[in-house]
Amino acid sequence: MIDARIVRDIGLDFGIDEIKITTAQPLQDAAARIKQQIRAGFYLESEHWHLRNIDDFCDVGTALPKARSIIAACQCYLTGECADLDSAGDPQGLIARYSWRNHYSDLKERLELLAAVLKEKYMASCVVYSNGNIAEKPVAQRSGIGYYGKHSIIINQHFGSWIVLGEIITDIEIHPDSPDTGDCADCTICIDACPTDAIIEPYIIDRRRCIQALTNWYGILPDEIAKVWGNRLYGCTDCQDRCPINQNVKPQPPRTEIGYVGPAVSLRGILSMSQKEYRRKYARNQMAANWINFKAIKRNALVALGNIGDRSTLPLLDEYSKDNDAVLAQTARWAMSRF
Ligand code: SF4
Ligand code: SF4
Repeated sequence: MIDARIVRDIGLDFGIDEIKITTAQPLQDAAARIKQQIRAGFYLESEHWHLRNIDDFCDVGTALPKARSIIAACQCYLTGECADLDSAGDPQGLIARYSWRNHYSDLKERLELLAAVLKEKYMASCVVYSNGNIAEKPVAQRSGIGYYGKHSIIINQHFGSWIVLGEIITDIEIHPDSPDTGDCADCTICIDACPTDAIIEPYIIDRRRCIQALTNWYGILPDEIAKVWGNRLYGCTDCQDRCPINQNVKPQPPRTEIGYVGPAVSLRGILSMSQKEYRRKYARNQMAANWINFKAIKRNALVALGNIGDRSTLPLLDEYSKDNDAVLAQTARWAMSRF
């Protein structure tokens, strides 16, 4: 069995913030939890594609049949940049902090360097993920990367919840670390801070109400959610912004410039783009990945314009109110009704 410290030291040398090890055992508790939440209706229909086979999703043996260990990793993305950019006459749509750059690609590249060393040194077979189709959060908890906050996001001891996760599934046996058994004690700040009351009980998110999940769901947003949507274009981090653990995390210089988008983009710009232009302009960022619904992004932009209420955008909204797409047309009319 390989000492975890050897693997950790190689990974840290490649600039990975934290590395922990767990076994390749299926994550049966996580599978049961996800199934139960799907049965309760807390997942959006559009998310079911990646949860089509929950048992496979929670078993890394699906990716590598002879898997023995999972090398779990995290990378902090907190920088000191300003999040609320205002540009007079050009209303801006906010981008959630984790998507200002493509930290998933950055972490994956670093993990691939580590995997290459393991292949050479130990003849290991490796499959590398970041934001991939495996149960990343349960892997992170079991390996000791972090514990679940009541907002259902993993909290790391050093970097709070400002982290992206990644993994190497491998057939070599590495000494496992212990799970992180931390908890939030009696804090309920994120539950109270959520603008849509999506955290229906500790650790349970009703994704039909969560702005983060709805960002990529295409349809008419309920009025009560659209009104508190603010000027978000992509994602939501209110529950993380208010978490006291996150207040103690030290911002760092940007770790990567892959797929840079920044804290905000022009809403007029988004509404003037074709899908092709959008995917080309933000090509290396996850907000333009092929599984992101461009019409949902446009719907978000229309909702944001309705909440901003800049009268100079009325002609653009009027144009969209006659769009052939019923969701965009109805959302534009909703936005105009907000003025
Ligand atoms: S991401 Fe936003 S909407 Fe979703 S639970 Fe957190 S605060 Fe609520
Ligand atoms: S805000 Fe409080 S309850 Fe929510 S994740 Fe942070 S510590 Fe836990």
